[in-house]
Amino acid sequence: MRWENVITHSSRFITRVFNQLFPPACILCTYPTRSANSLCSRCQQDLPILPYHCQQCAQFLSPPTVNGLCTPCQHQPPPFDRTYALFPYQPPITSLIVQLKFHHQLAIARAIGHLFIQRFQQAYGGQPLPDLILPIPLHPNRLRERGFNQAVELARPIARAFNLPLDIKGVKRTKHTAAQSGLLAKEREHNIANAFTAYRAYSGLTIAVVDDVVTTGSTITECCKVLKQQGAKWIDVWCCARRG
Ligand SMILES: [Zn+2]
Ligand SMILES: [Zn+2]
Repeated sequence: MRWENVITHSSRFITRVFNQLFPPACILCTYPTRSANSLCSRCQQDLPILPYHCQQCAQFLSPPTVNGLCTPCQHQPPPFDRTYALFPYQPPITSLIVQLKFHHQLAIARAIGHLFIQRFQQAYGGQPLPDLILPIPLHPNRLRERGFNQAVELARPIARAFNLPLDIKGVKRTKHTAAQSGLLAKEREHNIANAFTAYRAYSGLTIAVVDDVVTTGSTITECCKVLKQQGAKWIDVWCCARRG
């Protein structure tokens, strides 16, 4: 047996023994679980369900509207065409996102990525998937500070599962802005205006834009504006959590 084969076999054996001794834990309650999304069955059942929402921007709608759209989307449609949000922004999703973003818990991104995969297997059914996945870029200063882009980490397992290209260079965040949290809707719009620049054409492409949380949608809107200017045909927004 060649040396590299011996090493591969040994490392597989060690991984197996390690997993037997220390089974992977649920990301919410630490109960042992081997599920792909790293959630035990109980925590998975208890996940919050997104209320009835606008098909285009995922704004919660009460009561439902006839065409499934909120009033702003009917009168002044955003530059994206549909939003798939996994959860409302409420516990325990809020703490998962904080753990991911500020405590470098990348296992959470993989877990949420798997929840997206489960959802999209139903949501897209026979429909074609987008041509590429574009995680919302961070400004280089923010990326240096954090060490990773949470949107890229969320998108990675989805891209792998559906064999879709991940576009992390086509659009850049060229304006360093203050954090959006704590700002009012109008202030958010102003803060993020012209923050993105495209470095390629997107003529005729269908794109999935990924972000962790969508609040007023101003960041997504600004990024999608640039993509549509570059010729994007259709944009789906994939976000982990939507604030109502
Ligand atoms: Zn659990
Ligand atoms: Zn809407």
